[in-house]
Amino acid sequence: MRDQSEPFLSHPFDDDKLKEECGVFGVIGVADAANFVALGLHALQHRGQEAGGIVSHDPVQGFNSARRFGYVRDNFTSEDVMKTVPGPLAIGHVRYSTAGSKGATAIRDVQPFFGEFAMGGAAIAHNGNIVNANELRRELIERGSIFQSSSDSECIIHLMARSYQKNIPERMKDALRRVEGAFSVVAMTRTKLIGVRDPLGVRPLVLGKVGDGWALSSETCALDIIGAEFVREIEPGEMVVITDEGVESFHPFEARKPRFCIFEHVYFSRPDSILGGRSVYETREAIGRELAKEAPVDADLVCPVPDSGTPAAIGYSLESGIPYAMGIIRNQYMGRTFIEPTEQIRNMGVRLKLNVNRALIEGKRVILVDDSVVRGTTSRKIKEMILDAGAREVHFRIASPPTAWPCFYGVDTPQREKLLAATMSEDEMRAHLQVDSLRFISLDGLYRAVGEAEGRKADCPQYCDACFSGEYPVRPTDVLKSGQLRLKEDA
Ligand code: SF4
Repeated sequence: MRDQSEPFLSHPFDDDKLKEECGVFGVIGVADAANFVALGLHALQHRGQEAGGIVSHDPVQGFNSARRFGYVRDNFTSEDVMKTVPGPLAIGHVRYSTAGSKGATAIRDVQPFFGEFAMGGAAIAHNGNIVNANELRRELIERGSIFQSSSDSECIIHLMARSYQKNIPERMKDALRRVEGAFSVVAMTRTKLIGVRDPLGVRPLVLGKVGDGWALSSETCALDIIGAEFVREIEPGEMVVITDEGVESFHPFEARKPRFCIFEHVYFSRPDSILGGRSVYETREAIGRELAKEAPVDADLVCPVPDSGTPAAIGYSLESGIPYAMGIIRNQYMGRTFIEPTEQIRNMGVRLKLNVNRALIEGKRVILVDDSVVRGTTSRKIKEMILDAGAREVHFRIASPPTAWPCFYGVDTPQREKLLAATMSEDEMRAHLQVDSLRFISLDGLYRAVGEAEGRKADCPQYCDACFSGEYPVRPTDVLKSGQLRLKEDA
């Protein structure tokens, strides 16, 4: 889900992390489904903090919607808002918006999107990114479609409107066959909850059972919050259509070898979620263990850059035998309130969010474990804070390979030249960050940690790892046409 008005722009509030752009959730067959959806979206808030929306259907009151900027807890807990979305069927979406799309008029970009068709209404919520959206949009506009938003996801609704199929699920199949890229979609009609994953299964989507009803969610952690039982993952290339009668499964796309986003294991998903049958927390701990084997160093303490570096730091400590310590404390109440789009305030933002636990650090040789290095600005700041607190040595260990390529599948990434690893070797990055040592886990090591004992299969990689390898499983058509990027394979 990307705003097409400003493609591939890095967010001015960027705090030096890649950002998942969306989370989706839907429930059918329970009273006041929107309340369940609000809870689910709250558990998925890490996937998008800028805005959220809910569409519901009630047999008497029909379709209704509520869309708001801000956190789920600040909007969808109010009785006044929740009573506007009644009924036993609802879907919702949280989004992280790119620059320029936030403001009085941009509420139109907040999903779910709704369309009225001859056979009734339908709403969709999309996690991922359509890489041929500009092309589709141009074609649709030429043929008379009137777009309401700047989001690529709206193409799906217009493609559905142009289909000659007699029911909504068939129209969705038609529409999604024209779409290239990553999509995990949760949709609804008056009587159906629908979930679809793209043929590569780049973004996650899971099915849960809640009472007599069903739930669809980006992650299992959001099933837990509503007391739903995790049933299974929606398969790559699968569409499920859920009614009061139960779940029907279809495979409307040409089968392809799945390429799930490996970064979901490293950073995007919550550690209490299950991905591919594995606990995300345990995978991250395994990444830390691999890192300790690949990049050992003599030191006194292993400290995470909280919170995302914590499980990997624990793994590193367990494997190396070097004591684990909370050398950096995170202020849990930071939010985004103080972050302004200037370099000076952005740098201050790190201190507002993280503080060094001086009593532990002073005089010590410290290993800092972080999940990734994107632009390197935060890493530099953290290193300074650790040295200011009297550390003797600072060694960075990174739980992902160097991020050298942008993502076009639903993750907000700075332009390629802003990625530290795109312009510098590992040694140059070490010198730039002014640390005693810097090591990243290898791509093979990461694959081993996510359960691929033989490592990465170079001829047919088991995951999407394009932001590390530059090998894109789906060519990013729009961006290549715009000339903004030259792929490795085209060089
Ligand atoms: S490019 Fe990176 S972040 Fe994007 S889907 Fe692939 S692995 Fe995930």
